[in-house]
Amino acid sequence: MIYKVITKKEFKKFVNGLINSNETFGPRQVNTAKDGKPIYQFKEVHSFDEMELDYTLSYSSLKNFFLPFREVLSRYNFTDDNWEQEIEYRVNPRVIVGVRACDINALCKLDDIFVNGSFPSPYYIARRNNTFLIGMDHLPMDDCFCMSMGELVVRQGFNLFCTDLGDRYYLSINSSKAFNFLRNVKTTDPTDKDDRQWLERRNLIKRSFNTTVDTSSLPNLLDIEFDSPIWEKWGDKCLNCGTCAMVCPTCYCYGIEESIDVSLKSSRRERFQHSCTVVDFAEVAGGHNFRPSKEARLKYRYYHHYHGFAENADEQICVGCNRCGRNCLAGINPKDVIDDLLMEKTDEV
Ligand code: SF4
Ligand code: SF4
Repeated sequence: MIYKVITKKEFKKFVNGLINSNETFGPRQVNTAKDGKPIYQFKEVHSFDEMELDYTLSYSSLKNFFLPFREVLSRYNFTDDNWEQEIEYRVNPRVIVGVRACDINALCKLDDIFVNGSFPSPYYIARRNNTFLIGMDHLPMDDCFCMSMGELVVRQGFNLFCTDLGDRYYLSINSSKAFNFLRNVKTTDPTDKDDRQWLERRNLIKRSFNTTVDTSSLPNLLDIEFDSPIWEKWGDKCLNCGTCAMVCPTCYCYGIEESIDVSLKSSRRERFQHSCTVVDFAEVAGGHNFRPSKEARLKYRYYHHYHGFAENADEQICVGCNRCGRNCLAGINPKDVIDDLLMEKTDEV
């Protein structure tokens, strides 16, 4: 990693340069919630000033830039005695500015599945390779718990990461592309004062967390609590809407649909995002459902996130953004569920 410092004025010039030659996305206010708070999303921007880099949170994650809700994997054209398959996964270079550390770490977890896993996805890889990511630190929201999940610091998965030092940014440069782009603007080597301020900023972020989740007993606690009544308690509340998985930056389960044109001359295969909390997720031909109860479905999601699957090297995939908790209409959130599991065993002692 190479470190540089850039004034905010120069950073604006740098980003405007990227915007002029690439499709660029950044945080923008798209609506206002009932309580008057702004709702932000990552949207296309045409100038630096359209972005609100001090945004609080984006309700949906960056995942959909890499795993769209629905995408065509291939098209087929049939003729009398032959057929052709069309596959398209070319992506124009694009830039995303203002990405939070937890969302970058979430992408690294998706990389483990779709880039480094047993069945790499060329669609995902094309999007990932053609996206220039500029990360930015921020003070946590009241309910963020990324520090508890060990996801507060970014080490990989981005091109450039900015730590806010007031009138300038401390830049962590993580790719040759970022280093070369920065040659077009003025940067300086960090001084002792810059290094000290960087550390102060890191400590301020750490001190600002109001929510902690005790993850020290995971994943063993989940082994022990497999038959706990806690799953029924929270499962009963679940509406099986799948919202938690849609907004989660690391939920990646999907379904495949084939559809044939009425002329019988063409067809297409589509991939769509699915959720293990939705009723038909584990249903198979013949109507058998491997997880018929709400309790089993909700439990499955928690096991995937906090216990881990062999597929992702048994790694916990939650990054502690609490998007699932914020968006759940039934008030289900990871902190309360994990606290309940811990309390159940503590109460028994
Ligand atoms: S946990 Fe909440 S968001 Fe997720 S499926 Fe159940 S009700 Fe919907
Ligand atoms: S807090 Fe919820 S939405 Fe965020 S990564 Fe963990 S499971 Fe996904």
